[in-house]
Amino acid sequence: MRSAHPLHASQKPDKQYKGDNGGQEEAPSILVVEDEPMMRRSLCDLLRPQGYQVHEAAGGLEARKALGSGLFHIALIDLNLPDYSGQKLIEYVRQGELATKMIVVSGEANFENAALALQNGVFDFVSKPFDVSYLLKTIKKAAEEIAEINEESFESQTIKLSDEINRLIVDNSPDVIYILDENGYFVFVNQTSTELIGCPPENLIGTHYTSLVYKQDLKKASYVFNERRTGDRSTKGIELRLNKMGSNGSSHAESGYIYIELIAKGIYKNEEINKRNFVGTYGVIRDITERKRSEEIINYHLYHDNLTSLPNRSLFNDRLHMALLYAKRNKQKLALMFLDLDRFKKINDNFGHQAGDEILQSVAHTLKGCVREMDTLARIGGDEFLLITQDLSSPEDATKICEKILDKLNQPIMYRGNEIRITASIGVSLYPEHGKTKNELIRHADMAMYRVKEVSCNGYCFYSDDFEVKDFPNLELENDLYSALSKNEMVLYYQPQIEAVNEHVVGVEALLRWNHPKYGIITPSHFIPIAEQNGLINELGKWGLLQACQDTKELEAEGFPPLKTSFNVSVQQLHNPNFVKEVLEIVQGCCLDQNSIELEITESSLMHDLQKASAMLKLLTQAHISVAIDDFGSGYSSLNYLQNLPINTLKLDRAFIQNANLASSEKTIFTAIQSMAKSLDVNFVVEGVETTAQKTYLEKLGFSSIIQGYYYSYPIPVSELKAFIINQNGIDT
Ligand code: C2E
Ligand code: CA
Ligand code: CA
Repeated sequence: MRSAHPLHASQKPDKQYKGDNGGQEEAPSILVVEDEPMMRRSLCDLLRPQGYQVHEAAGGLEARKALGSGLFHIALIDLNLPDYSGQKLIEYVRQGELATKMIVVSGEANFENAALALQNGVFDFVSKPFDVSYLLKTIKKAAEEIAEINEESFESQTIKLSDEINRLIVDNSPDVIYILDENGYFVFVNQTSTELIGCPPENLIGTHYTSLVYKQDLKKASYVFNERRTGDRSTKGIELRLNKMGSNGSSHAESGYIYIELIAKGIYKNEEINKRNFVGTYGVIRDITERKRSEEIINYHLYHDNLTSLPNRSLFNDRLHMALLYAKRNKQKLALMFLDLDRFKKINDNFGHQAGDEILQSVAHTLKGCVREMDTLARIGGDEFLLITQDLSSPEDATKICEKILDKLNQPIMYRGNEIRITASIGVSLYPEHGKTKNELIRHADMAMYRVKEVSCNGYCFYSDDFEVKDFPNLELENDLYSALSKNEMVLYYQPQIEAVNEHVVGVEALLRWNHPKYGIITPSHFIPIAEQNGLINELGKWGLLQACQDTKELEAEGFPPLKTSFNVSVQQLHNPNFVKEVLEIVQGCCLDQNSIELEITESSLMHDLQKASAMLKLLTQAHISVAIDDFGSGYSSLNYLQNLPINTLKLDRAFIQNANLASSEKTIFTAIQSMAKSLDVNFVVEGVETTAQKTYLEKLGFSSIIQGYYYSYPIPVSELKAFIINQNGIDT
């Protein structure tokens, strides 16, 4: 007999019969209970060849012992046994709930015996002498039934067990597993909710999923919590925030939130997806708070400068990108400032890097105090900072910030008993005037910053096109320039000239722009020199003058106050013997009062060939075309020649006001030029006024003439000019 546990009705025998192959399944075991040795032997001999495991018991007691082991599938029982009757044996098996199938094989085949045996759960009653084939059939049937019962009980056990295992897995899952009904109410939640969300399943069941979702994420949650899709298209890995709940299912703002990742899919009756049999959503909520927090920390370090905690270059780039989109959409201006501390290396050298670091932190702190909440201040390298100021109403706002920064930085810092003074150079570029892209603006602010360094440090400067190194391929431009006029690519912009005393527009300077098909708007410094070399300047000049006259005429016709339009003339044009004639033809052809046009000739062109130039000027004067000396003071400090030239206007070179740092020597020169202009009775224009400080400086010097510069306006197309004049001169429309 094999050593095994007793076989009970609810249990499956260890293995099943499948021949004597030592394989997976074993033959049913049969106990032959028979006191008659001959009979016993013949039964055994009959059964063994059938593949059963046959054992014998010669008496009732022996049989009881064997059956008690629970190892027999079938017992063939003779009722008439000397020591312990077959009936008792049957009773014993029944009471012990043993699984053994009992087949009575008895000579005492009366009805009473048979009924009693069957009542006691005997499988069949076979009377002696038995029909061999019937007996074998009965045994086979019993064996099959045992196998079936055991199979069934195995399955139900397995199901029960797997239910328990599932429950165990579900409840011990680190994730919250839930089911929502078709309206979004919880119908099932596993135990994990207590730990993760702070609320046990019994309090969550019946509540709506929205009570769980962090307010700001409700919209996102509505797409995923109510998931109706199944398969690949269902929700996977969506990140959300859930409220930390009170154990009663209420959420408190102060309980905070957790970050979760959600997997959800629709559940359908009959597994067939259509609207009508959607019964709810199955989902898994995974807590990813830890990961998110580490991500936040990592992100913070990726996007911030460790020393000052300011945004670094990456974050700055993102912010600038966003700021530009915003400015473009809302037609706003913004300023980009490039700030570099002056001679900072010296601080590191003198006091050591530790001191350098502490001072940088203090500078960052000071700078933060100078900017608004919405501005972005970033440290992008050693002693370099970038600043975006958004929503500027005028360049003036940027000026104020620069002045504030310089002022605050100039206040001494105490470091270990030493008084340290920090100064900085700031370059400013403005959107959209100085560039429309991130790179352009940064590059231009950088160039402007270097300008400050070149001159004096401790100051600020706005970008100007003049800083530009010519980086257009000259040959390509030259080729294109030949056809630029015929292709209508040339445009005239106008920069207003403002009377200092009443701030009215009294004149405009026409400035050429080339709207190049590949490079966009190109300023004259890139193409005028080419045109001057290849002679195209004459054509360009004529076109420009005609355009300027037509625009002036149009303004006049529209009722704008009379303005003087000045137009730049290159030295090459003066060499053209027909120059004056051509100018007159154009001006008169437009029926324009000659006084409304002025030609600007640079001081250097005049000096190039003073004699020829002065002859030309005389002709122009005779034709009542007025002349301005442009870029005055840019090289030839002799003022004497002016006395002998018929000129109407002096335009002070913009380098003058831009380099003026209120030193007394400049004041003297300025006063001298101003009084000379007065005595010669010529108009006096100061060019390149960009900031309030420069304007105040002029006021202090008693300047009462004309101002031209970014302070009032950049060069603008004629349509914008009209709006500018209406606004500036207070014209009712
Ligand atoms: P420019 O005659 O001295 O013209 C003034 C220049 O100063 C313009 O540059 C103007 O945009 C710039 N500007 C005005 N206000 C400010 C300011 O506040 N700050 C700074 N930094 N710059 C200011 P633009 O338009 O680039 O013209 C450059 C030069 O090209 C002109 O200098 C002029 O010499 C020449 N140019 C322009 N148009 C023509 C033209 O039609 N014919 C000829 N021959 N030359 C022209
Ligand atoms: Ca000019
Ligand atoms: Ca000029």
